[in-house]
Order: sequence, then C-alpha cells, then structure tokens
Amino acid sequence: MSDDRTPLTVRLPEGKRCALAITYDTDMAGGYAPDGICHGRTMPAIKQHMLRLCDTAQGYGVRLQFFQIGNGLEATEDVGYLQEVLARGHDLDQHTWSHLHLLTDDLEALDYELRHTNELLAGRLGHVSTVLRGPGGYPNGLRGRAANQQVIFDNGFRSVSCEYNFRASFDDYMATVTGPAENQPYAYDSGLIEIPIMSITDRNFFDAIMCEDAEVYREWRVARGHDPVPEGWRKAPWTREDALDRWIEYNLAVAEEVYAQGLLWVICWHPHSHYIHDPENRMLPALLEWAAARPDVFAGTLRDAVEWIERP
Ligand SMILES: [Zn+2]
Repeated sequence: MSDDRTPLTVRLPEGKRCALAITYDTDMAGGYAPDGICHGRTMPAIKQHMLRLCDTAQGYGVRLQFFQIGNGLEATEDVGYLQEVLARGHDLDQHTWSHLHLLTDDLEALDYELRHTNELLAGRLGHVSTVLRGPGGYPNGLRGRAANQQVIFDNGFRSVSCEYNFRASFDDYMATVTGPAENQPYAYDSGLIEIPIMSITDRNFFDAIMCEDAEVYREWRVARGHDPVPEGWRKAPWTREDALDRWIEYNLAVAEEVYAQGLLWVICWHPHSHYIHDPENRMLPALLEWAAARPDVFAGTLRDAVEWIERP
C-alpha cells in the first residue's frame, strides 16, 4: 500500500475480451496556440470536427468520451455543440477550468477550478461530471499527493484519468504497443481510482515523435495556431510525410495487443490534433472498423470503463 497504488480488477461485459475507451480532450491545445495558452473556447472548425467524430462513431453504434475545460463553458461561450454531443448520447466530463495541472501545489486553485467547472456544467448543460481527466498527464499520476487527491474527492470525483507514461521517440514508439498491460487501473490509498492513459497521445505522436522540423512547427504555431487550417490542407508541414499512416498503424498494433491480452485500453486523443493531422478523418473509422470486425471487442467511453472496475 505504501506506494499509493493498489491494482484493480476490470470486469469486462459478458462476451467481451477487450475494450476500448475512446476519449478526446476537447481543448484548443496550447501546443497549437500563438500565446501557448490552452483554452476551451473552441473554434467553429473544431466544433464541426467533434460532431464529425460523433457521426463516425454513431455509424458504428459507438459512443465517445469527451473532456471539456470549464473556461469554454462560461456564459459568453456557445455550448450548442456540447448540448448536441450530450443529446446524441456521448459522454462529457471535466478537464479543469483552465487546464490546471492536477499536481499543482495551489490546492485552493484546484478546488476552485473543479467546483466552478462543475457549476458551469450544471448551469449551462444540466450535466454532472463523474470522472476527471488531468491536463498534461503525469508519469506517477497523483501518487504521493494525498492532498490533491482529497480536493478531487471533495469535488465529487471517485475516478481520475491522469497518469501518462509514453514519452517515446521515433526510434522506439512501436515498442510501446504493449503499454496497456502495465498501465491498468489502480486505487490510490485514498480510495480515488486512477485510470491511466494507456497509449501514446496524438499530440505526443504527431507534434513530437513525428515532428521533423521543430522550427516550422513553432513558426506555424505563432503565426497561425488556433486558426482554421487553409483550404486544401493535407497534413501539417512539420511532420513526416507518412505520419498519419504510422499513427493508424500504431493504434491498430495497440488494438491487436490489447485484444491478444484481453485488456481495457484507454485512449486519449484530441479533436484539435486530428483536425490538423487527420483532416480527412481516417483514424477513428479505421479503429472502429477493426473493432466492428470482432464481436468480442467493446468500444465506448471512459464512463463505461469506470463501471467495470471492481472497487477495493
Ligand atoms: Zn487537455
């Protein structure tokens, strides 16, 4: 118990040997922002892309999980696209108000952000968040941070998804396809449940591992980040030519691995990253096609996965 990590059992639904929890953090990522600041004031092109992802998922009878930052829910912001996401049966949970790291030493700020975002979700969407996605991702999750765990508990959360271990490079990223086996859910000593991100994120993959020209990326970010991409955009100019093909290959390899091992796989992607790096929307259909071909694979949300975790 002293390492603040008690492994938990995931009981998948009857007849399923593996499960995909497909989650998207909806923020306007700071890594694409001229000022480097991440926010939730989603531009229309990303709203449309989110609804396109919902269309794709619904074509396979699958519901998606979104995590939304609270500052995009303030009274001045349009939330019609989020009402639609909820009305169409997808899951929506919170991601703090300002993209505040959950490991912050400022516990008052953490408490305020979680509480205020819960109030905004209730007030603007009539919605209650039950699981929290931690901004940024931390290799040790919230281990050893009992006070932070308590603030999260006090704001009504019993589950959090914030551990992230995959700072891979181009030379070794395929070696991480076995990652889900070592990154399964566990309980902190406080009783809070951690459901780690189990594979490389799209941000990490495209903008770091597949980035061939950091200067081109930086120039684009400063000049045009957070703008819609121009007409005819095929791929980002800073990535390798075959980055998207490799991304699809990587994720299907992880899928095969979780299928072979009979595991839960928690995926963390971003509509913004896919809008930039997968403008024709190839990744999600490829994964859902793979899942649909296997009746013993479940594809759904992180809330679904929370239900299958046996509590200590
Ligand atoms: Zn985020």
